[in-house]
Amino acid sequence: MGDIQIHDKSFEPYLTAESIQQRVAALGKTLSHDYEGRSPIVLCILNGSFIFTADLVRAMHLPVRIEFVRYSSYSGTSSTGQITQIMGLKSDLKDEHVIIVEDIIDTGFTIASALRDLQKSNPASVKVVSLLLKPDALRHEVPTDYIGFEIPNDFVVGYGLDYDELGRDLPAIYRLKG
Ligand code: 5GP
Ligand code: MG
Repeated sequence: MGDIQIHDKSFEPYLTAESIQQRVAALGKTLSHDYEGRSPIVLCILNGSFIFTADLVRAMHLPVRIEFVRYSSYSGTSSTGQITQIMGLKSDLKDEHVIIVEDIIDTGFTIASALRDLQKSNPASVKVVSLLLKPDALRHEVPTDYIGFEIPNDFVVGYGLDYDELGRDLPAIYRLKG
């Protein structure tokens, strides 16, 4: 795996496709165990977590239902600190077990907003799964029940994550060269 160029920036390999797949399989196994006998609603936060969600639900072996919601907070390589809900929920979450799937938790604004939104519909439970977590960037108290990898405060792309809409299709994760 060599360096790649996206728009004006260079990125270097960070997490291989194999290590991501191994971690996703492990998370799927844990969730299968924790939600045994239930039919949770997996809530995919678009756009970034579409690939992670697709792999995760296939590693879960549960009768999951999948919903999509979309927020916007990022512009370029830094968070704007403002969250806008662009696309809302289709189904009623009352008394449902909800598993929120995020690609990455950075400041925690997005997850905090999503949680606030969801609580209004009185779900039976809500847990958060995020492939990546940047502990040093976290500024909100958010539940981080299931985390794939904790990473430093670098900007990353691939496996669903973009840099100005490019790079989502990469099977591995790359980080911005400093
Ligand atoms: P937060 O609201 O926690 O600050 O940011 C969460 C969202 O910001 C993620 O869903 C993701 O879309 C975006 N984000 C945060 N860090 C990164 C990063 O390193 N790379 C990319 N591509 N997006 C990021
Ligand atoms: Mg996102």
